[in-house]
Amino acid sequence: MRTRRIGSALSVGVLLAAALTAGVAPAGAETTGERPLAVGRDGAVVSDTLESTEAGIAVLRRGGTAADAAVAVAATLGVTDPFVAGLGGGGFFVHYDARTRKVSTIDGRETNPMAGDETMFIDPATGQPYPFDRAVTSGLSVGVPGMLATWERALQRWGTRDLGELLRPAIRVAEDGFLLDDAVRRQIVSNAERLAQFTSSAELFLPGGAVPEVGTLMRNPDLADTYREIAARGTDAFYSGPIGRDMVDAVRTPPLAPDATIDPPAGLMTEADVEAYRTIDRAPTHVRYRGYDVYGMAPASSGGITVGEALNILERFDISGMDRAQALHHYLEASRLAFADRNRYIGDADFVDVPQRQLLSDRYARQRACEIDPAAAGVSPVAPGNPFGGGACKQTGTATPSKPEGTHTNHFVVSDRWGNVVSYTNTIEQLGGSGIVVPGRGFLLNNELTDFNFAPTQGDAPDPNLPAPGKRPRSSMSPTIVLHHGKPFLAVGSPGGSTIITTVLQILVNRIDLGMSLPEAIAAPRATQRNTPTTLAESGFINAPTGARLAALGHTFTTSTGIGIAAGLEFGPRGLVTAVGEPTRHGGTSAAVVRPARR
Ligand code: GLU
Repeated sequence: MRTRRIGSALSVGVLLAAALTAGVAPAGAETTGERPLAVGRDGAVVSDTLESTEAGIAVLRRGGTAADAAVAVAATLGVTDPFVAGLGGGGFFVHYDARTRKVSTIDGRETNPMAGDETMFIDPATGQPYPFDRAVTSGLSVGVPGMLATWERALQRWGTRDLGELLRPAIRVAEDGFLLDDAVRRQIVSNAERLAQFTSSAELFLPGGAVPEVGTLMRNPDLADTYREIAARGTDAFYSGPIGRDMVDAVRTPPLAPDATIDPPAGLMTEADVEAYRTIDRAPTHVRYRGYDVYGMAPASSGGITVGEALNILERFDISGMDRAQALHHYLEASRLAFADRNRYIGDADFVDVPQRQLLSDRYARQRACEIDPAAAGVSPVAPGNPFGGGACKQTGTATPSKPEGTHTNHFVVSDRWGNVVSYTNTIEQLGGSGIVVPGRGFLLNNELTDFNFAPTQGDAPDPNLPAPGKRPRSSMSPTIVLHHGKPFLAVGSPGGSTIITTVLQILVNRIDLGMSLPEAIAAPRATQRNTPTTLAESGFINAPTGARLAALGHTFTTSTGIGIAAGLEFGPRGLVTAVGEPTRHGGTSAAVVRPARR
């Protein structure tokens, strides 16, 4: 059963405040339900839901590694957080190995079917790109899921347990059910119209044709059976077996309800596409920032490069010596510049030449940093720079606007008693993905291919993120691990589409430059500048005294009700780990440790 929160928002706030003051969580509070902060040893998990965090902690308690626990967490999230996680999606897995002291990554991003070329999002009836929303709720947007293959690869590299054993907690929750909370209910409400278009989706999420009430026991026996089949037959059941076949059928011939009002463009995925899916072991991105080594995700995600470039730009300035408004001004401006470069240069590096080394060089950071005016906000869209030389301060490239992107996924972090660390962001793209549940299988399919640009966006310059057969759409996911003197210091990440990048960046700046603890760095009000004319910001950011001072510099704000849902770990001396979720965003998230610290 799910206990979404312990007590009221006040008690969570008091818990957080007490822990911030004392540096440890109150003893005895660790097992009483969902809480956003835990401090202790021998392993830790922070994830969106209580069940998924508990599944990971149980694996760690029995001696599993961080990778083992991560698979249990991810599979359980597929049950309890079905609109942002699960078998129908993909993601990026970043891992620190305590034995080799190396950070490695697995790219489990969805791939485009081989039949999908540059014109796939052009409506043949009009010759124009499909309206974004029409493409979202369709088989056409579904990429070949990399989720299960990522779990398998992580276990091959760093696991000690069978996949089947690690699926057990998820099977139990799917079978027994969990109590619907307000956060997931709101996700059903906002997707109800789309879900009603497909018989399988309506059956699972709109039982009796209505949105279930808070407190309803949500069971998913189909998903329990799907996991059981994978446990018994391995990942082949998915990639070259009956589950994959059912998925391809759902993509090509979605189970439209008799009274459906949509006419979705047809999906292109074949069984051969599914069988050909492979994860990729990639070298992480790396920048040094004020003595810390920051590792992130290389393309197909733009996360690692964009966070890294922005940090490199910020390193040119004495941010901690500035007053707060100037520091935030520089944070926003560095992000504005890095996003112009992201949009211009980053796509799947197996298909386009991404100038990663140049974009992450100190020389280029100097070239970009000199564009920041301490007295005035930049006017977006600002032009991308030229990472191939020149070194001139002012650039003359074409400025192009950023396109809208979805804002949902999930991020979780795990550590174990040996000091291994996982930072894993995974998603089905938009909240509810394509809206299509695979009939009889209990999981939603992604709409990840809408992360491609439907038509060229870069004027006369080539667009790095157009679709191509087998290509991975550009992501913003930014699972990050930071080392200090060669040892883990932080693991952090967030959902939120392209706001993921700024959320991770802002948390790092808050923690490293602005003197905040990790709980403070995560709880602090957020703003996200992605080379757009106005900056999206939470009201706490806009209404703070610094908000007015930023406005005086020319920043304009659009209010957001919430940016990101971060999860982080900070590693202290003698194996102490501080596990930090969100105290209020998304109704609060769930942090736990294996052996809580006592005062
Ligand atoms: N599809 C998004 C990305 O890869 C993540 C999902 C989201 O948060 O919107 O960047």
